[in-house]
Amino acid sequence: MQLTVLGVGSSAGTPAIGCGCATCTSADPRNQRTRCSSMITLEDGQVILMDTTPDLRQQALREHMRRVDAVLYTHTHADHLHGIDDLRAFCQINRRQIPLYSYPEAITHIQEKFGYTLREPSSYWDLPVLAAHVVEAPFEVCGVQVTPIPVMHGRIRIYAYRIGNLVYMTDVSAIPEASFALLQGVEVLLIDCLRDTPHPTHVNVEQSLALIAQMGARRNILIHMTHELEYHALTARLPANVEVGYDGLQVTLV
Ligand SMILES: [Zn+2]
Ligand SMILES: [Zn+2]
Ligand SMILES: [Zn+2]
Repeated sequence: MQLTVLGVGSSAGTPAIGCGCATCTSADPRNQRTRCSSMITLEDGQVILMDTTPDLRQQALREHMRRVDAVLYTHTHADHLHGIDDLRAFCQINRRQIPLYSYPEAITHIQEKFGYTLREPSSYWDLPVLAAHVVEAPFEVCGVQVTPIPVMHGRIRIYAYRIGNLVYMTDVSAIPEASFALLQGVEVLLIDCLRDTPHPTHVNVEQSLALIAQMGARRNILIHMTHELEYHALTARLPANVEVGYDGLQVTLV
């Protein structure tokens, strides 16, 4: 399995509109962050996508994506969902309906806001052709087992996902006690790390590092960062098993 980090930005992305700070004006591509998403390419070439950000088109062009076989939605905030319409391109290329998975309230939200995308294949592929599925326990997608892990994002309960020994955990403020049982033996962790100052619905750097220590993964990659966190300055502050994620980062998983 291969993980490709598509974006590590927070909801505003970096550079942020109208900002002239050191991160936003940095020439280093690792300081240019599209909205938060990753994809997993399986050995047989199938692609599982985490969320559909408003930057999905840009991410797909950059990574030369030609297929998406399933989408796992962590939650339905605009920065994780509103690129849903761009799934149309993959439906058109592969002439296939794409299944979406998430928790009940998220699926209801998608049905209400993007109902036109949920449709059966027909001879026209002028709209996205998607199918929404509620998942509340481990399930199989593209031949691999995926485990949804409930986590708190402020007052809402959203999903992190585990595939093998990889966990993708964005937009988290706390992990319920019961979810730690699903996090045993994690090797590679992608985790929210919004900024230094506290936030009601996201962990900050200090809290992110505390959760990392608690979970004990071998390799930890910070995602969903605002422009307050400059790549090199943050890297210099991290323990050896934690790295600052960046758009385009590739991780090979065994
Ligand atoms: Zn977000
Ligand atoms: Zn800035
Ligand atoms: Zn969110």
